Amino acid sequence: MRHAKQGTKYHGRINLSDKDEEEKLIEVLQAFMNEEVSDEWQEVIPESAVNWLKDYVPKLAGVLSADVLEKTREVIRGSMMTGSTLQERMKALRESSDVLSRMTNARIETIARTEITRADSMGRLIEMKGNDDVIGVEFSAIMDDRTTEMCAERHGLVMRLDDPRLPENTPPLHFRCRSLLLSLTVYDYPDGLLTSHEFDEVPSGIQRESDAEAVRLLLNSDVKKIASEIIEAHTIDEANMLAMHYGLAKEADFDGIDIKAANVLIKRISEFKKIFWDFEPLQFIGSMKKRPYFDMKDSPNAQFSDVFNAIGLNPNKFSTLNIGRTISSLKNSEKIKWYPLGCGTIEATCDHEIGHWLCRVLNAQTDDRILTLYREYYRYPSKYAIPVNGIEITLFINLKMANELSGLANKNPDEFVAEAFAEVRNNASSRELSNKIMQRVLEIYFKEYKH
Ligand SMILES: [Zn+2]
Repeated sequence: MRHAKQGTKYHGRINLSDKDEEEKLIEVLQAFMNEEVSDEWQEVIPESAVNWLKDYVPKLAGVLSADVLEKTREVIRGSMMTGSTLQERMKALRESSDVLSRMTNARIETIARTEITRADSMGRLIEMKGNDDVIGVEFSAIMDDRTTEMCAERHGLVMRLDDPRLPENTPPLHFRCRSLLLSLTVYDYPDGLLTSHEFDEVPSGIQRESDAEAVRLLLNSDVKKIASEIIEAHTIDEANMLAMHYGLAKEADFDGIDIKAANVLIKRISEFKKIFWDFEPLQFIGSMKKRPYFDMKDSPNAQFSDVFNAIGLNPNKFSTLNIGRTISSLKNSEKIKWYPLGCGTIEATCDHEIGHWLCRVLNAQTDDRILTLYREYYRYPSKYAIPVNGIEITLFINLKMANELSGLANKNPDEFVAEAFAEVRNNASSRELSNKIMQRVLEIYFKEYKH
């Protein structure tokens, strides 16, 4: 459940919809928390790459067993989701199996780098194929002292999407290849792309035949339809149909919810399902008022019902009339650290509920390591009285948790996990605690749920 920390949660009388008052409050609270708040956040998942990876098991030059290959894929998928660094990926790969743990650093790095390049290239091509404006690609080597000759001599090679050379020139061309394909659009080339003979003498790479074949298949397939499916409903009826059509929920009823918010929930669940495609669809998504099991008491913004496996948005908060006020109240809740960094948005509100879903399916709230971590950060919330304009505001919060994750995360292990998931999905530089929690959650998923 996600409540904005506002209005009723404060003692004393202050109207948070009053702009001046609001800003002073935030200023005081910020000084009080003694930390700057960053507004920057962005998507962390290369969507098309994850989608492609879903059906892909890396064939690492025949040296690894099927079991290890599967582990490698899991680590790579996990790292795409958390946006982890190369070092973290290497560490995760090493920890994932005995075979990998015995390999040298260089070997592990090769796997981590090469596989990410592969997933990235395929993801790019899928996106390009789905975009009518893209007519070709340009091979781009990252030019520095580590660039191989093979990549350097192709730097600048321009190919149309139907160029027969493309499958042989799609990175990775070799192990540890860092090159990438840039898209060329009709706007760059209004007269179309001509085949250049400048690179005709370039010898072929040592790329695996199976990779070239995968690219050929992709270029000849009809991925356009799939890739260009933009999940955007224009009416509530359309939103209800989309949610069911995409297999997100068995029933959907967004009646009373603003179309923007409905689209956000559909999009976030659908992104989630691209990674956790093996989760059963939800029973219901839509307006909390449309199902009696949602608890409207304390007027939450949104709710996940673990008994009924459903996610609801509160129409009192997300109606077209009220959505504007709710958006600013979400922002305020982030600013006072009631929500994690980057999470004062409708997107993060939806992700928070999705985080509850993930948590409950995996029973992460009862996992020993999650509980140990929770207890390490949990404090009985303290009461802080803050004078603002002669009005005393009382705030109950665990500052330690608020500073490292969010005030709400202190409530119970469920909120702890839901908030970590929200942060990892919405804060491009998600912090140590949320990364730690999500690493464990992914571990539970791979080790205990999947097998
Ligand atoms: Zn919650």
